[in-house]
Amino acid sequence: MSDNTRPVRVRFAPSPTGYLHVGGARTAFYNYLYARHMGGQFVLRIEDTDEARSTEESLRMQIGDLEWLGLTWDEGPDAKTLKDMGSHGPYRQSQRKEIYESYALKLIELGKAYYCFLTDAEIEEQRAASLKAGRPPQVDSPYRNWTVAQASERIAKGDKPVVRFKVTDEKRDYVLKDLVRGEVRFPSDMVGDFVLIRSTGMPVYNFCCVIDDHLMHITHVLRAEEHLSNTLRQMMIYEALGWDLPEFGHMSIILGPDKQKLSKRHGATSCFEYSQNGYLPEALLNFIALLGWSSPKAQEILSVADMIAQFSTDRLNPAAAVFDEQKLLWMNATHLRALPHRELWERVEPFLTKANLKLPGDWAWREQALEVFKTSMQTLKDAVELFRPLSREPVDVTAEGKEAMAWETSSKVVSKWKDLVAAHQSDFMTEAQFNEYQEKIKTECEVKGKQLFQPIRVAVIGKPQGAELKVLVPLLHKEILLERASQVLATN
Ligand code: GLU
Repeated sequence: MSDNTRPVRVRFAPSPTGYLHVGGARTAFYNYLYARHMGGQFVLRIEDTDEARSTEESLRMQIGDLEWLGLTWDEGPDAKTLKDMGSHGPYRQSQRKEIYESYALKLIELGKAYYCFLTDAEIEEQRAASLKAGRPPQVDSPYRNWTVAQASERIAKGDKPVVRFKVTDEKRDYVLKDLVRGEVRFPSDMVGDFVLIRSTGMPVYNFCCVIDDHLMHITHVLRAEEHLSNTLRQMMIYEALGWDLPEFGHMSIILGPDKQKLSKRHGATSCFEYSQNGYLPEALLNFIALLGWSSPKAQEILSVADMIAQFSTDRLNPAAAVFDEQKLLWMNATHLRALPHRELWERVEPFLTKANLKLPGDWAWREQALEVFKTSMQTLKDAVELFRPLSREPVDVTAEGKEAMAWETSSKVVSKWKDLVAAHQSDFMTEAQFNEYQEKIKTECEVKGKQLFQPIRVAVIGKPQGAELKVLVPLLHKEILLERASQVLATN
């Protein structure tokens, strides 16, 4: 076990094969929280040895997602240039091949690993035979005890071996004191001799992970439960190299509402989708933190600063967590409504701009509009449909709108409305002024109820139902109100 007086160093080690998944974001966040809580270092390491699936584009996407979440790292590729920052690089495994090779050679020298020339067909044959005989399908290599000289001769002839780890013959348990799961025992014969370096020269994940965690002085490995089964192999490699283990904590699995492992089937699972759908990074972080961790103060709504202050590994829960979209939406709405209006506007504006809405630019107007709409917003994107009627563009008169305009008194009502707007002294009217005008129309046109309200609504938003006019009208510039009333009258 590691010496707990060492400064905490944790890492997030994504494989760049797509967007950052919410599960990955949670792993990153727990590591980040732990580092920040302990005053330690958070390292970003890129596990890109799967050449077929790892792409630079995915790497940039994942880095973009981490930046959006605000999870800054102390060492690793620089977010902009991707150049290494820190003194334990390179931080991309594809650039560390010589390092892995040198440790593979060391293990071979120590007699803890060997060159193995078994072909895939031979391995398959062994597997089939083992299964038939009811034995676990483990490799039994005839090259296990070859000398390096013997192997070198064959390599010189052009054969390409793998480097295989020699699992101890002695039957015993490897005992992991997992920070989340408590004691986990792995019998040594659970695995057979396993590959460290493929015949292509590419090292495998379990090997790279140990070498890197050791050389990068990682003290705590907080990662997904699915890696628990890798930990035995990793423990064997640590032991063979005479290195101390870091602390390990394997977090709970995340399930969809149907209790199946969370996947695309369940809807949005990438951070990118959440950002595009108008979720706030602080709300997503709050939500994912509580999938497997709980606040000692039993708080549900927490800021990142609260979580840094309260985080500890002993409140990580091994039980599976269910991803509840409704709860996320509620948290998003809660964080959103608590934002100061200036900040809320900054976050909402890109969505409004993307939707091409043409809105007044002054702050007082924005403030008033946010005040009116924020209670109806759960996501930033919800602002688009709420603000759309306020955009300077012609209204689309719906079929029901046309129907209401066909009533005998409707043209008269809208004309009167238009006259009152035209005579209005300032750019905007207040709610009280609007009510007053409505009363005037009622008396002068001798209409009431829907004959009164619906044509005015059509002249403002193109449809007879929906938004409350006393809320909307004060947000609409006099010119827009005039344009719309004229438009509705002209097409009637
Ligand atoms: N590259 C691994 C993954 O993306 C990380 C495993 C680890 O944290 O050890 O799942």
